Amino acid sequence: MKVLVLNSGSSSIKYRLFQVESMGVLRAGVVDRIGETGPSAVRDHGEGFGRVMSDLSDSGAIGEPAGLFGIGHRVVHGGEWFREPARVDAGVLDAIRAMIPFAPLHNPGNLQGIEVALATCPGVPQVAVFDTAFHQTMPPRAFHYALPRDLYDTHRVRRYGFHGTSHAHVARRAAALLGKPPGSLNLITLHLGNGASAAAIREGKSVDTSMGMTPLEGLIMGTRCGDLDPAVPFFLGAATGKDPGEIQALLNEESGLKGICGENDMREVHRRAAGGDPSADLAIDMYGYRIRKYIGAYTAVLGRVDALVFTGGIGENDAEVRRRACEGLSLLGIAVDEARNGSPSRESREIQREGMPVKILVIPTNEELEIALQTIACIGNNAGPEEPR
Ligand code: ADP
Repeated sequence: MKVLVLNSGSSSIKYRLFQVESMGVLRAGVVDRIGETGPSAVRDHGEGFGRVMSDLSDSGAIGEPAGLFGIGHRVVHGGEWFREPARVDAGVLDAIRAMIPFAPLHNPGNLQGIEVALATCPGVPQVAVFDTAFHQTMPPRAFHYALPRDLYDTHRVRRYGFHGTSHAHVARRAAALLGKPPGSLNLITLHLGNGASAAAIREGKSVDTSMGMTPLEGLIMGTRCGDLDPAVPFFLGAATGKDPGEIQALLNEESGLKGICGENDMREVHRRAAGGDPSADLAIDMYGYRIRKYIGAYTAVLGRVDALVFTGGIGENDAEVRRRACEGLSLLGIAVDEARNGSPSRESREIQREGMPVKILVIPTNEELEIALQTIACIGNNAGPEEPR
């Protein structure tokens, strides 16, 4: 049996096919340029999904019939409706549609991907796996903003948090690595990729996270500013004449590392810093400092921290960022071992200094595998009206 994982965005569909028994990857790829014009463009998501299925059958990864146990879809925003993955039905589709105002760049493409997969493979169980779901365990004091209450009651303005699939995956892997039940561990997980977020996890459950109602809040990211005085956008409107849409684009697409030094790719930021560019130095300094502040805050939230986990393209590969993020935290029981931290290993590993009470782990994330596992579990838990085929 096979499980197909789809990450359908506004202009691309990424896919990965797993063998259920071994969870090995049978085939992976991406169809992009959806909705664009030009010779190699793909007309719409329907045509895009058709190309996915053609690739899977032409390569022999699936047969005829396809033998799909299920299809797992990544969905960015599930609002307050979903604490867990959900078997797709009309109500689930309505809920994903209703969350479009909260994730206008993501949910429409996610929804289109599900709709074409349902139309093309009507007999295959489909599951939506939400980036927000893992954080639905946050208590009210962590998810509310200090705004007039009716904004929550009427518009559901609150912290949701994202990257939940990645935080959940590395939390589970951390427990396996440490040989402890996930429900016994307090963790601070740091997903540092193009987007970046921190989560405080108490006994396996997310109790706080740095991203908010949207993915703009929290850590410094490739092009997003993260935490900011909420008065700044109003000041910018008055001072520059930009309208709200332009300011939103500035905070999402022109800020973060790119805003500070002109480069959003961390490898390039390091190259610039090595070449003596002071703005790149400042970007790395600010990036590490912001993470360190969250580690301190989440240590206070959790009281006891068993392990700090670094993941994502930067978290997994960037020893300098890890060093700066943990700098000066030995009072909290946190210190990296320089040699272990500098090792180029791509395996999950411990990098804390000998004898320090808080483990520091580097764990590669694997959101597709996590979606596949959650899809299989969800189908197994509620087989629904039709039997898996
Ligand atoms: P996404 O969030 O899009 O999945 P990734 O998790 O792949 O992105 O992270 C992308 C970031 O990881 C980029 O800033 C990239 O520069 C950074 N990165 C990848 N490899 C390295 C490396 N060896 N050293 C430092 N940064 C790296």
